[in-house]
Amino acid sequence: MAESATLAVGAKAAAARAKGHDVIAFAMGEPDFDTPENIKRTAIAALEKGMTKYAPTPGDKAAREAIARKLTVENGVETSFEQVTVTVGAKHAIYMALQAIVEPGRGDEVLLPTPAWVSYKPLIELAGAKCVEVAGTVANGFRVTPEALAAAITPRTVGIVWNSPSNPCGTAYPADEIRALCEVLARHEKIAVLSDEIYEKLIYPEVAPGLAHFSPGSHPALAARTITINGMSKSYAMTGWRIGYMAAPKAMAKELIKLQGQMTNSIPSFFYPAIVEALTNSAVGVEAMRVKFAARAALIKRELDQVPGFITVAPNAAFYAFPDVSAHFGKTSPAGTRITSAQSFADALLDEAHVAVVPGEDFGVCARNHIRFSFACSDETIQKGIARVREWVAALR
Ligand code: PLP
Repeated sequence: MAESATLAVGAKAAAARAKGHDVIAFAMGEPDFDTPENIKRTAIAALEKGMTKYAPTPGDKAAREAIARKLTVENGVETSFEQVTVTVGAKHAIYMALQAIVEPGRGDEVLLPTPAWVSYKPLIELAGAKCVEVAGTVANGFRVTPEALAAAITPRTVGIVWNSPSNPCGTAYPADEIRALCEVLARHEKIAVLSDEIYEKLIYPEVAPGLAHFSPGSHPALAARTITINGMSKSYAMTGWRIGYMAAPKAMAKELIKLQGQMTNSIPSFFYPAIVEALTNSAVGVEAMRVKFAARAALIKRELDQVPGFITVAPNAAFYAFPDVSAHFGKTSPAGTRITSAQSFADALLDEAHVAVVPGEDFGVCARNHIRFSFACSDETIQKGIARVREWVAALR
């Protein structure tokens, strides 16, 4: 299997730091904020109360009920607690959902609108399916059209991995465009929809007026075949806690719970009250982080627009900017490296200017002219880091 490109860059940046270089890292997709205090306190109290034993495989009932309520009320995805499985991060949920819908050896195909997060394709292939990329374009803000989606569907298509807001695009689809894509999927009964909504709370109408989240599982024609995936990592600054969840149709949920029972059992028991606390009592803390990310989205766009040759779709969600840097392919860096690809651009940028970004190759064929900046870092880091990029790019010949 391919190594996760994002984790690989994180490791390279750490190695450069260990050598004493002042590395500015735009690589890791994790909030720079700490987990809100009330959530931490709730877990500590649960631990002190002795919640230290095995919990039921899909999670304790109170947490599953809180998740079902959240999905029903906030997302319009009618969910009962039996449909919910709490997982070891959203990544684990995506892995299991793909294992559930793909039959190895049957020639199954899974659609993936791209650019897309680096782990989807390896996980689709690991389940035994062919990954069929449906490419977005810079001109269209990376959004695939209903026509392109319809054209990619074959009798072998068993599923689609959907992700809005998107990593790496840093954009969300307007709700009416998602509905139009859902209409296409509604015509194909065999297609399961895996909707990864991990960046749901990080949408910036400040940048794109009127932009709002829409869950495909709330579309009446898709409700019975959508697995809605989410988690605590990004919206609640809880990446290290490893808490995700998914809601699946009842019959499928039973199978997913069996799979999890053999794989991992439940997440740590004392986290369950913290999930309830996060979902029911943390809106203020989440909103404060969202507002900061919205300002950074505008800031990084302004800064990247000052870098010669970069073409950047305005980020309006999540915490990523994904400029096209291909104007510099064929040039030579100040230290004599020939830039031929996003990978060589990112490698030379880290080696020479000590700025870590993730090259686009692993985000899909249409992403190979791009590099990803995570703006989950301070305003000063954004300004200082992009100034370094600008200076280094200006010296390319
Ligand atoms: N889905 C997307 C689109 C992501 O960007 C990430 C993390 O980078 C994940 C899922 C994984 O989230 P978790 O930390 O819950 O496993």
